[in-house]
Amino acid sequence: MPFKPDEFKHVDFLWDDHIADQLDLVERLRYRSNILGADQRITNTGGGNTSSKIKMADPLSGEDVDVLWVKGSGGDLRTSTRANFASLYMDKFLSLENIYNKSEIKGVKTEIEDSMVDRYRHTTFGLNPAASSIDTPLHGLIPFRHVDHMHPISAIAIAASRDQEGLTAEVFGGEVGWVPWQRPGFDLGLVMRQKLKENPNLKGLIMGQHGLINWADDDKACYELTLSLIERAARYIEQHDRGEKTFGRQKYKSLGKDARTEILVKLLPVLRGKVSQTSRFIGTVHATESVLQFVNSVDAPRLAEIGTSCPDHFLRTKIKPLYVDWNPQGESYESLVGKLETGLAAYRADYAAYYEACKHPDSPPMRDPNPTVILIPGLGLIAWGKTKSESRVTAEFYSLAIEVMRASEAISQYQGLPRQEAFDIEYWLLEEAKLKRMPPEKEMARNVLVVIGAGSGIGKAVAHRVAKEGAHVVCADLSEETAQQTADELVKLYGMGIGMAGTGLSSCGPAIGLGVDITERESIRRMLEKVILAYGGVDNIIVTAGIFVPPDKQGNIPDEKWALTYAINVTGPYLVADEAKKIWQAQGLKTSLVITTSANGAVAKQGSVAYDTSKAAANHMVRELAIELAPLVRVNGLAPATVVEGSSMFPRDRVISSLTKYNIVFDESESTESLREKLALFYAQRTLTKSPITLADQAEVAYLLSSSKFSKTTGQIISVDGGLHEAFLR
Ligand SMILES: [Zn+2]
Repeated sequence: MPFKPDEFKHVDFLWDDHIADQLDLVERLRYRSNILGADQRITNTGGGNTSSKIKMADPLSGEDVDVLWVKGSGGDLRTSTRANFASLYMDKFLSLENIYNKSEIKGVKTEIEDSMVDRYRHTTFGLNPAASSIDTPLHGLIPFRHVDHMHPISAIAIAASRDQEGLTAEVFGGEVGWVPWQRPGFDLGLVMRQKLKENPNLKGLIMGQHGLINWADDDKACYELTLSLIERAARYIEQHDRGEKTFGRQKYKSLGKDARTEILVKLLPVLRGKVSQTSRFIGTVHATESVLQFVNSVDAPRLAEIGTSCPDHFLRTKIKPLYVDWNPQGESYESLVGKLETGLAAYRADYAAYYEACKHPDSPPMRDPNPTVILIPGLGLIAWGKTKSESRVTAEFYSLAIEVMRASEAISQYQGLPRQEAFDIEYWLLEEAKLKRMPPEKEMARNVLVVIGAGSGIGKAVAHRVAKEGAHVVCADLSEETAQQTADELVKLYGMGIGMAGTGLSSCGPAIGLGVDITERESIRRMLEKVILAYGGVDNIIVTAGIFVPPDKQGNIPDEKWALTYAINVTGPYLVADEAKKIWQAQGLKTSLVITTSANGAVAKQGSVAYDTSKAAANHMVRELAIELAPLVRVNGLAPATVVEGSSMFPRDRVISSLTKYNIVFDESESTESLREKLALFYAQRTLTKSPITLADQAEVAYLLSSSKFSKTTGQIISVDGGLHEAFLR
């Protein structure tokens, strides 16, 4: 019996007839999927799938045929569109059973079972390019019109308990059956259909160590049933909650916010360096109350060792996390680092042993043996992934696994998946094929790149350029507002911003915006600390911030303007390098620093003595820093000349005074950008290449100097000035 909409306490009832009734049946499926995926208690990001069997006119015959619309491979239910659903002729799909049955060797994990996935494509209705997932038979073989397969915490808790079959009966009183763990595929579909044949009253099944599947002939009824089953399981778990005794009581206390931040800021770069020896990782820290209750508990070491249960979870979290038994109240930071080092070495050895013990002759080679989840009492959970979004999802999955363990230990005893089964999912050839189909990683992938001056001009162009190459871009600027604007543009282009609990940052996806005053060491330090908390470390830095103060009408530069010119153009990049040095050394990963100088650093001329000498000093600082920071950090200079386009160093009055100085005809009513263009064309004529120099030209070289393409170049100044022979370096 389903609950009424206002009776749900553990899930959000979101179905709205006003919306659903406007939609065709495929769109209703999309709608149902979106509202199911919107609640993490119902299913995890990217997890679960839904289907509807819909009568449609066959484009070949015009006759009505049954079409199975089922959530395809990849993507997320919450954000799914129609394009994420595969469509299969039901009769053709069902005919595949003949091929399956004819095979002499069949059953779970056989070649014929894996080969079925490729055959689904041959049953496509309506030239739909969406790829069917391995879960397709779970939907196609259930003889009901609508099927939901979810990974709800409360259902997985039952499915991951020692007496899962008995608990299923106790919680659902016979309305829901149980099937033991089996790797998803055609055979599991057959097993489920058989269960339903034996007991036609079943409304759903608990899938051992995995999740929930249920069905109905009406789509809204299917949605209500899904929520009701989850609600019922959650209520049962709530009644058995162990309160203070959860996870065998608390062994350690959490650190206060300031103490936590202080340790994390020191620890994360060290840790990132240690887990990134094979390839770089981006970090996410989770320290919700629930996570802290787990990591601080007596049972944490035992439960962590059992590992995660739901296959969806452990593909990201690995078979188990690394738990570090450190007493936040009684032990020092140094002891934490020591324990992490030993823990990591043991973890890697253990992972290699697991691979050796479980591998098959055709298994893919061993993957990176470092943990993706690290648990530390007092601090919380630190997750690692190749992107921010991946590490965030990994953190989310382990947080869900903690909820599963909490519930399972309340009603029974938590059980992991047998090691071999875990291995056969992790190293499944179908998963490997999926990984191989992914496009190669971009040049700046896995890099945290800070652009200082990203609010406008060259810095903004650089931020866009490196984001296109896959970098995680920290847009920093004296104006936090313009920095945030650039970050927002990047997030819009390259991914969703994601709220980051505990960092004080509202969003943290492929880019963040931060304010910084590079004339203040403290301001730089605070900015870099935020970067560490957001991404786990810092790689490349590109400084484009600079200032040009024109002399007054008498040709004088006031003392304070002289000092400001040096503070921003020379001392600023030095302080940035000096503060970043500590982080780079803690990480121990090779990286680069690019400082924007100027062609003026080599050309003496009238009227810009402060600017020109400051840039000459910056040029030499590049060489000094290259020596000081070798071999860890390459340091190079980018020397632009007269980039007038969109430059904050060419405000309208400076452009007008230059145009006047060079006797160039212009109209006062022209826009600033059009005046800048005139000036740029004039400057271009003074160069050897005779073409105006753009922001994109500068951004390209800043990117290249940071990239591996220039991995053998350090201590150099690269001019991007169109060719000014008087600026040739000697
Ligand atoms: Zn599943």
